[in-house]
Amino acid sequence: MAVTIGILGGGQLARMMAIAGAPLGMRFLVLDGDADACASQVAPLVAARYDDLDALESFAKRVDVVTFDFENVPASTAEFLASRVPVFPNPRSLAVAQDRFAEKTLFRELGFDTPDFATVDTRADLDAALEKIGAPAILKTRRLGYDGKGQFRLRSPADANAAWAALGGSALILESFVPFDREISVIAVRGRDGAFATYALTQNWHENAILSASLAPAPDVAVLEKDAFAFARRLADSLDYVGVFALELFVKQGSLLANEMAPRVHNSGHWTIEGATTSQFENHVRAVAGLPLGSTRARGTSVMLNWVGSLPDSRPLLSEPVAHWHDYGKTPRDGRKVGHATICGEPSEVKSCLSRLARSLDRAAQVGPVVPAL
Ligand code: AMP
Repeated sequence: MAVTIGILGGGQLARMMAIAGAPLGMRFLVLDGDADACASQVAPLVAARYDDLDALESFAKRVDVVTFDFENVPASTAEFLASRVPVFPNPRSLAVAQDRFAEKTLFRELGFDTPDFATVDTRADLDAALEKIGAPAILKTRRLGYDGKGQFRLRSPADANAAWAALGGSALILESFVPFDREISVIAVRGRDGAFATYALTQNWHENAILSASLAPAPDVAVLEKDAFAFARRLADSLDYVGVFALELFVKQGSLLANEMAPRVHNSGHWTIEGATTSQFENHVRAVAGLPLGSTRARGTSVMLNWVGSLPDSRPLLSEPVAHWHDYGKTPRDGRKVGHATICGEPSEVKSCLSRLARSLDRAAQVGPVVPAL
């Protein structure tokens, strides 16, 4: 009997998981509040809210294992399902990753450096935190923040009132602003049997706090790799984590600081679809289904470009021999991730393809910072 994987959340991550699992004979059932969520184009979808217990009960009966495309599923939903069917990653991993304070506290307990941080619940806490951490700093909501949402940058303590006006009332965390040299991520996977693997480190560029481009393998990271991978493994083992996760790191003067973990497949790992022997999506569904993990070896150099807001004309890209097009089937909207492209090959091929695309797709600003790193 083929395994059926239930996925909470029906966005592009669920869609790419279902596409990756199909050749393995896997079935999928997606649960999302929106009947038209883009995963519904490739897998059956139950339209229900995450707190609809009747819907969750029947969903649990129709699947063998549950996973997530969206980490902000309420803890009570994960617990409810976990008492009926295996849920991976487990509810504790989800709970830690949902709270920036719990997450950074665990990183420190496991011996990994982070930006300085302090919790802020009141206006007086904000003054105390600024006193302790100094400025510049970033005030963030502890929960439900993504793609730069729920964040306010303070250049000096004089910005405290504005920051409080923007975010006060939620549970918050103040972090020191890190003048990093670059941002990298670890994409790692841990199986139900504790097997562990990492992909090549990925370098990332953001625009308006949304991922814009990724390059893998990241250049000049040999000295950082061992520490980054060892920490990812300690983290995964300590949570008894099952599935793929991403760890976002800042590189500052040759040392690493952990920003956050994403308890799911991650945008900075999309290059693995064409750029690695086994994609992050396939390895995630293998892990949650209890199958052996596949090789994470990179196939050449990959650059991923995100399409945010709307898609460019696909034709210039489709004519490129080393480029791969991904359209998520979503309605265009400002700030929304609607697709991506991966250019994968020898560094010289990737470079020349990028320079043609920078012109034909008018992407010079997006491609510009990546080219010197190739
Ligand atoms: P986050 O939602 O925490 O991943 O933040 C989104 C982006 O904001 C990160 O990828 C960084 O580019 C930037 N950022 C977040 N936290 C900090 C920090 N403490 N110092 C400097 N930049 C940050």
